[in-house]
Amino acid sequence: MGPSTHSHIYTVKLIHRQEVAEGTMAFRFEKPAHFVFVPGQFVDMTLVDPPETDAEGNGRAFSIASGPHEDTLMVATRMRDTAFKRVLRGMPLGATLQMEGPFGNLVLHADPARPAVFLAGGIGITPFRSMLLHAAAQKLPHRLFLFYSNRRPEDAPFLDELQALQRDNPHYTFVGTMTAPDKSSRSWKGETGFITPAMLSKVLMNVAPPIFYVVGPPGMVTGLRTSLKDAGFNERDIRTEAFTGY
Ligand SMILES: Cc1cc2nc3c(=O)[nH]c(=O)nc-3n(C[C@H](O)[C@H](O)[C@H](O)COP(=O)(O)OP(=O)(O)OC[C@H]3O[C@@H](n4cnc5c(N)ncnc54)[C@H](O)[C@@H]3O)c2cc1C
Repeated sequence: MGPSTHSHIYTVKLIHRQEVAEGTMAFRFEKPAHFVFVPGQFVDMTLVDPPETDAEGNGRAFSIASGPHEDTLMVATRMRDTAFKRVLRGMPLGATLQMEGPFGNLVLHADPARPAVFLAGGIGITPFRSMLLHAAAQKLPHRLFLFYSNRRPEDAPFLDELQALQRDNPHYTFVGTMTAPDKSSRSWKGETGFITPAMLSKVLMNVAPPIFYVVGPPGMVTGLRTSLKDAGFNERDIRTEAFTGY
């Protein structure tokens, strides 16, 4: 059963924009009165009368990256050179978009006896930021593990914030991994290479059977789902969301 929120169409005002990793921007919007969502859900954002468009149209789906306790709504995206993103990047603060949602049921399970293991590839971090900030703010009892894979630290949105969040939530463990650390100008002392069952089992030893949440580009999501199944995890305990379009 999905979360009991109802989707509506809203007009939302852009109020802030900020680079959160190389080539990656976060956009903050005024939160409509009475807008309710569950961390992990997404919205459809549509440009109103844009100066240019392309075959993909004027709308894109974005996970809500902010927590429900935050005053504003935030989404974050890789700024590729597409018509939608050129328009979004150039929009003046105060301009409006159409937002529909919330949608989706990739939300934290209710049973605190089951740990949650979040596996994020790059921009796939967005729904997990919302879920992790919410868990810390609400002091949720769930054990939470984030495995966060990027090419380099420079490419990893919210890296420092998500690492530091361990101080606010004693039930939360952060594991970052870089697949191309040698291409970075920053030093990296964490894990390297792709997320593998071997990397997971080092950290998840002596932990109750978890529920996995996998979000990222479609290739990463399919690959991890297969390797988790091959490693003997039950398919019922693997929840995924692929960011189609990457
Ligand atoms: C449930 C859900 C949640 C999502 N949440 C997020 C989110 O939080 N953040 C986020 O960024 N995205 C999210 N997405 C994906 C998002 O909706 C877009 O599809 C994505 O951002 C790509 O948009 P685009 O304008 O860059 O490319 P599009 O114009 O949509 O690209 C279409 C196709 O063109 C190709 N393409 C375009 N530009 C390039 C390029 N520079 N290099 C290589 N290929 C290219 C790609 O193959 C792509 O498949 C989500 C998707 C879903 C379904």
